[in-house]
Amino acid sequence: MQIVVIQTAYLGDVILTTPLLVELERLYPGSKIHFVTTVAGSNALAGFKNVVPYVYEKRKTAFVEGIRELRNRLLIANRNLPFDLVLIAHRSFRSLVLGASIPARRRLSFETFQSRLLKYFLNLETVVYPPYSDAIHYTQRPLEFVRFLSNSTQVPDRRPRLHKNLDTDGSLEKKIGHRLDLPYCVVSPFSTWGTKMWHGDRFAELASIIVKRYSMPVYFCGEPDPKCRVMAEKMFHTFKASLEDAGTENTGANLVGETSVGEMVSLIANAKLLIANDSAPVHVASSFNVPTVAIFGPTVKRFGFFPLADRQVMVERTNLDCRPCSLHGPELCPKGHFKCMNEIQVEDVFKAVQNVTRGLPWFEQH
Ligand code: SF4
Repeated sequence: MQIVVIQTAYLGDVILTTPLLVELERLYPGSKIHFVTTVAGSNALAGFKNVVPYVYEKRKTAFVEGIRELRNRLLIANRNLPFDLVLIAHRSFRSLVLGASIPARRRLSFETFQSRLLKYFLNLETVVYPPYSDAIHYTQRPLEFVRFLSNSTQVPDRRPRLHKNLDTDGSLEKKIGHRLDLPYCVVSPFSTWGTKMWHGDRFAELASIIVKRYSMPVYFCGEPDPKCRVMAEKMFHTFKASLEDAGTENTGANLVGETSVGEMVSLIANAKLLIANDSAPVHVASSFNVPTVAIFGPTVKRFGFFPLADRQVMVERTNLDCRPCSLHGPELCPKGHFKCMNEIQVEDVFKAVQNVTRGLPWFEQH
């Protein structure tokens, strides 16, 4: 079968669509999946042998032209034949139009106001979008397509399924000068949204406690965004300064902006612990079952982005009436007090680290 999957949202959403890819392969063995996504998303799909990524940069292309160009690319790849199935896994109007423009025998999207309105004109079948609930992870949403197609009531494995990549493991080892099979911790202190970020100086203090207590290096990771780089440098400076008298030689490195998406996946996949905000690295850790401490400010578990590793803790303030204040977390706190993050202290997060790593040999205190 020739299948198109459209997911052009953020890297985290693409990672959380990987269980769908695995289940499609199980349902339609030998099928080819043409995956329409972003540059970052396409780099996270390494190792899926039956998946061909197609980059669609919505911000860089005019609406109609971009859709026409992508449609042409897909049709050339399928020798101008209609596709067997198109799955529109992103709920935006743009994705709906994109999916509708691709000739296909069958086309599925989530039920939205627009898809309900247009379903008969677009030859579209719609699937109910699962409600927000603490029990439902985001990965279960795209998996609803599989349940619909197979008429099954079974809930497939919802953990994200990225692949390990020996090439990026190798390049990363060279870059950090540290063997990936030796213990280390990763700190990912960024997010696309301002209020989803815990304070940089607290991340720095926490990282230095981890180096001192467990004698393992800490690597800071993040995107090559100029703003992140500046913040990371400041954070890393504070971290290094607090370690000056610790007497530990290998304390880690600031890798913010220095790794490809593949190397970032390798870095987290081989780590003994990840500490991160509510962001894509949490889903990478879930994919490889890396113990995770996830810090949630304005967002909450029922949105579906919680960690899925066997050992995981969410650190959050559960007593604030203003939480959640938006689906993604606004750039600035609308109340002005930013209590959801301000009230999370270094000790709270370190306590979570101790809970999540209890009994693991490399986390015995030194
Ligand atoms: S309004 Fe509340 S939940 Fe939203 S950013 Fe401010 S403190 Fe956080």
